Amino acid sequence: MSAALAETHGIRVPDKLYIGGRFVDALDGKTLAVLNPHDNSTIADVALASAADVNRAVVAARAAFPRWSRLAAGERGRLLLKLADAIEANADELARLETLNTGHPIRDTRGLDVPRTAATFRYFGGMADKFEGSIVPVEPGFLDYVTHEAIGVVGQIVPWNFPLMFTSWKMGPALAAGNTVVLKPSEITPLTALRIAELMSEVGIPDGVVNVVPGFGNDAGERIVQHPDINKVSFTGSTAIGKRVLAGASSNLKRVGLELGGKGANVVFEDADIARALGGSLFAIFHNQGQACIAGSRLILHERIADAFVEKFLAVAKTIRIGDPFDPATEMGPLTSSLHRDRVLAYCDVAREQGGEILIGGKAPAAPELAEGCYVEPTVVRAKTHDRVSQEEVFGPFVTVTTFATDAEAIEIANATQYGLGGGLWTRDLSRAHRTAREIRSGMLWINCYKRVHPGSPFGGMGASGHGREMGFEAMRQYTEPKAVWVNVDAEIPAFYAR
Ligand code: NAD
Repeated sequence: MSAALAETHGIRVPDKLYIGGRFVDALDGKTLAVLNPHDNSTIADVALASAADVNRAVVAARAAFPRWSRLAAGERGRLLLKLADAIEANADELARLETLNTGHPIRDTRGLDVPRTAATFRYFGGMADKFEGSIVPVEPGFLDYVTHEAIGVVGQIVPWNFPLMFTSWKMGPALAAGNTVVLKPSEITPLTALRIAELMSEVGIPDGVVNVVPGFGNDAGERIVQHPDINKVSFTGSTAIGKRVLAGASSNLKRVGLELGGKGANVVFEDADIARALGGSLFAIFHNQGQACIAGSRLILHERIADAFVEKFLAVAKTIRIGDPFDPATEMGPLTSSLHRDRVLAYCDVAREQGGEILIGGKAPAAPELAEGCYVEPTVVRAKTHDRVSQEEVFGPFVTVTTFATDAEAIEIANATQYGLGGGLWTRDLSRAHRTAREIRSGMLWINCYKRVHPGSPFGGMGASGHGREMGFEAMRQYTEPKAVWVNVDAEIPAFYAR
């Protein structure tokens, strides 16, 4: 870590792979510059895992598996609870590290990312010895009991948009259930996952239970997907790469969990509490600079309230404080990489070319102090339902606005994409709310709120948004193999082949 950064932010930056309970260099000695998206300065040159390093990590995880999976579930839980405490004890450091690497405003990393990470590990720590098997009421004379066994070594591949939180979503249930883990963070944002792995060792989680290997998708990532000694791959990322993961995992019939893209519909009916809908809709798209798979990126407004709603929405969006993510007053930081900033700006050009009307934004902010960073202004575009910008995931502070006249039309527009991850609706009419919720094809649906997430509530999508669920009992089920054990207690079995 550069001395200047250490002085400015007072944090130590992990810069090696974490394998077998230690920080190690990559076997080929390669590193990659990890950047601060506020000004594109180098934070650190971080070891870059290749396929050979993934192989090492799998060996460590396999060696750790028998002991970890046979540990009393309550003991695994106790260690995860200690980890949650350690995250809270190091909250400020983790928040700073996440802000430095991702550009998330410090008020968000302190107020949301770090507390939610601790809460998720704590939830699964508590779950470890409460996830029970069952007894199936089969014929008299037999006992058929079902246990849930750990799957084995789990490969986990995560994107750059919530790198700290995703360590807990992925590792929490996997570890509670007794699996060991090889996690590949995005090569762009590896820092907090490495620090979490180190904290795991500090609280006593045995060496090799968790291994973190930052590396490129087409090298380390593909090796995880193809590795014959990995039993499950859990992937969060784009739909395009998700399809490759699913195909690649067939090599040894790995189990696969896919959390992919989204294009969240956010429907405001004419009877909604407009003030609440307004605040919720702004949060739905602009929190985390819009870099959220569940972002409410399609604002679908009843035609009777549309003009007034848009006017108020634009008025507030224009006042969102964009700037240095370390400034506690900042509400929107930079996007996480310049590559991604360019991708979002390219969608503004697509909107213009397709006749979409850019109501605000569509460009980088003019402020000279932000010129070196990955900043994009809040962008609101009037677009038609089947325009590319209403169909493809932009993954930035970019929201389309369309209108509807009837409830049926609102549902039709909401369902008119390949995705089905998260969505919201705003109305005071109870039966309209539940009826619409039933009709919208989406893994999560928020009524008069948006983007609520809890470690106990299943998270995931359908269609091009993937399959499988994270969080809650559902996640525990997906990190275990059910085993049915039949016992003949005192049954007479007919002698089928009696001679
Ligand atoms: P991405 O698909 O490009 O990369 C995700 C991860 O996969 C990274 O770690 C990357 O290195 C790795 N990867 C890339 N190519 C690979 C390959 N061939 N084999 C194995 N791994 C490979 O996505 P991104 O740009 O990092 O993240 C943004 C995407 O993630 C968006 O589409 C967003 O919606 C999605 N996302 C989904 C959820 C969810 O829970 N549904 C949550 C957050 C983000």
